[in-house]
Amino acid sequence: MTRIRNNTVVVTGASRGIGEAAARYFAKAGAKVVLSARNEARIRDIAEDIAAKGGIALAIRCDVSQAADVERLMTEVRARTGAIDVLVNNAGTIDPIARLADSDPQAWGQIVDVNLKGVYHGLRYAIPWMVESGGGTILNISSGAATSALEGWSHYCATKAAVLSLTRVAHKEYGPQGVRVIGLSPGTVATDMQVSIRTSGINPVSQLDPNVHIPPEWVAKALLWLCGPDADPHLGTDFSIKTNEGRAAVGLALAD
Ligand code: NDP
Repeated sequence: MTRIRNNTVVVTGASRGIGEAAARYFAKAGAKVVLSARNEARIRDIAEDIAAKGGIALAIRCDVSQAADVERLMTEVRARTGAIDVLVNNAGTIDPIARLADSDPQAWGQIVDVNLKGVYHGLRYAIPWMVESGGGTILNISSGAATSALEGWSHYCATKAAVLSLTRVAHKEYGPQGVRVIGLSPGTVATDMQVSIRTSGINPVSQLDPNVHIPPEWVAKALLWLCGPDADPHLGTDFSIKTNEGRAAVGLALAD
């Protein structure tokens, strides 16, 4: 079991889906969790619910596309908890889904601001604290789209590929100083994002039977596992739980 008790774990995009499940899971394992997202009412409600169940949780509003927001988030977490042990760079979006010639340049750029620059901002403002305190773990939520091409997803594929590149560079630059950086490619997960994908009807992912999506709690379990030493061989890469090899390592049910 990965030791996480009393560690401070910051989760971006924690107002629903994978981020909410991760915050709840880490809190149950004894971590002090910091939930951040734009929907402040929602993260406050989740934090209150975690506290009512005996966990420790803070809610701090943050739009990851804004560097100043992320800098303030990290400064406030440090001031209120004394540490940033784990950062889960989870906030991400896929809307609007459109083929290149139909895409809106402004909306395309907004995806870059959230999916790519949001992760960069997290790295930029968490790494200095982690280096100062002797180390930490940064988990970047990746996707199979980082290494494959899907119609209608040019913004998503391009930004996830770039995030994989950030994972590699951050590991190279700060691994020697104790900062563990790993990507997690979860496969398809039953969240609002898959509802948008299905509605688009554009590529084979949109045609999947919703029953094949894994629950967000599985992703949360994998994220906790990635915080422990068994995951060290995967530092600086994307670890996948789409494969049975990855699932077995984490202790998840295997696919048929
Ligand atoms: P959801 O749409 O359910 O949740 C997305 C989360 O991101 C919300 O909490 C939302 O909160 C937050 N968010 C969006 N924009 C911003 C922003 N500018 N600043 C801060 N938070 C933001 O998606 P998932 O839970 O499915 O996705 C989470 C991550 O997992 C994403 O990075 C996604 O790409 C990745 N992923 C998902 C897969 C899936 O099948 N679902 C598969 C592979 C990867 P709010 O609106 O309150 O800001």
